[in-house]
Amino acid sequence: MVYTIEKEHAFYRKLEQLNDRCDRCGVRALFRAIKLSDNQLLELLLCGHHFKASSYKLGLDGWLIQNETEE
Ligand SMILES: [Zn+2]
Repeated sequence: MVYTIEKEHAFYRKLEQLNDRCDRCGVRALFRAIKLSDNQLLELLLCGHHFKASSYKLGLDGWLIQNETEE
């Protein structure tokens, strides 16, 4: 089960097309995954391909997913 972040969420931030790149392959990030761990906000940026490849594991690990593909 993957939980999504709504725009009203405190940790939401808009992804920048030029600056926010997939952590795995460097193309434009369409997904942002966040997780609070020891009071630190961890952030992963993922393209569509790498999000699909890892979404199951992210859900298991309790990451929240921000989906920017609809804009
Ligand atoms: Zn990627």
